Amino acid sequence: MEHLLKATAERAWRYRQQLDGRSVAPTPEATAGLSRFDEPLPQASTDAEAVIALLDEAGSPATVTSTGGRYFGFVTGGALPATVAASWLASTWDQNAAMVAMSPTAAKLETVAMGWMLDVLGLPSQSGVGFVTCATQANFSGLAAARHAILARQGWDVERQGLFGAPEIRVVVGEEVHVSALKALTLLGLGRERVIRVPVDGQGRMRADALPPLDDKTIVLLQAGNVNTGAFDPAERIIPQAKAAGAWVHVDGAFGLWAAAAPERAHLMAGYAGADSWATDAHKWLNVPYDSGVVFVREPQHLHAAIAVNAAYLVQGDTREPHQYVPDFSRRARGIEVWAALRSLGRDGLADLIERTCRYATRFAEGLSQAGYDILNEVVVNQVLVSFGDAETTRRVIAAIQQEGTCWAGASVWQGKTAMRISVSSWATTDEDVERSLEAMIRVAREVRETV
Ligand SMILES: *Cc1c(COP(=O)(O)O)cnc(C)c1O
Repeated sequence: MEHLLKATAERAWRYRQQLDGRSVAPTPEATAGLSRFDEPLPQASTDAEAVIALLDEAGSPATVTSTGGRYFGFVTGGALPATVAASWLASTWDQNAAMVAMSPTAAKLETVAMGWMLDVLGLPSQSGVGFVTCATQANFSGLAAARHAILARQGWDVERQGLFGAPEIRVVVGEEVHVSALKALTLLGLGRERVIRVPVDGQGRMRADALPPLDDKTIVLLQAGNVNTGAFDPAERIIPQAKAAGAWVHVDGAFGLWAAAAPERAHLMAGYAGADSWATDAHKWLNVPYDSGVVFVREPQHLHAAIAVNAAYLVQGDTREPHQYVPDFSRRARGIEVWAALRSLGRDGLADLIERTCRYATRFAEGLSQAGYDILNEVVVNQVLVSFGDAETTRRVIAAIQQEGTCWAGASVWQGKTAMRISVSSWATTDEDVERSLEAMIRVAREVRETV
């Protein structure tokens, strides 16, 4: 195994070194090379090194280089060096993070990482925390806790009885709710069509003056960080009102919660600590490898009651048993990478990561605006929406930028207008990456517009 691991480390390092010279999107030839994987399952065994050689030779060239500094697609962080290395070591350990008895190390690092996250995100320190696969699962888990709490106080045990015959739960969302939150509602039997949608403003923020009457049978689902504009719902106005009515407030903060960690952005998170549950991702702005989401619930017993099960053969220690806070049972020890990210960044490094990526977004907006293109959003965090003209022209420019290969950003439609969405979420992005990408975007946009 020694040679295998060392040779793989060499391959990984070669991949990293080649990132800068590569097209961010894989070339058509590289993608075509994936056909090497189209083979019948071999009858005989293959040496592990030969398997890794095939993986590297056919697989690596067809990756999207989202770990490089010029990937601005979706909201995709890179992976900090300490987290890549921690992930290797953790895979070598192959720990099952379900129970303390199965991995004291994994359980300990989850506990440490959750304390640190509650601290830097400014959330209540006694909250219950689950390490899940993504923000969709975090939304699911937080909303499961909400469903439990609302029905339990009306005398209905949803975990035992299910939803047939249960009292109704109302769910209030903004018009700009993320599809993943709707997916979570779907899976929870709360339905994605029967939600009450509150109108939003030009940035996608829920309008506090347009809220329906709230009560203690209602979940209010807020968003910290709109996936297009980066805007935050006005928590300071909505949460006190919702709490006074006895409603449960859940926050989808897949990337936005991390604004709390940067002194110059923390004001965007004002009021959010008053909610009951929060969902976020670590694989976005915290820059850990996929997959990694986190759910926080103010009163841990609601998350526990919604999710925990037990069986005679399971060991229940005196301390927190990780599986009792997540939908999974057996799972990989993803808390280790969260710990490694925070341990390596420190408070200052995290603040710098968030602030720097936000500043880069502002620089993109300035540069593109000076070149004559319309910026469609107020750039409050790391998201920029730019239009290159009408929908057809904008779509052509985006395709040409992706094909040119210096950088990558995707398309979106914002309140009826087609736009390129630039999301700066990676620790790896430098000033030079931003200037090179801006230059490429502007050059390609001019070329496309000249040929129209
Ligand atoms: C990315 C995102 C999600 C979904 O996150 P996954 O980790 O892909 O499940 C949900 N809500 C918002 C606001 C997001 O930006």
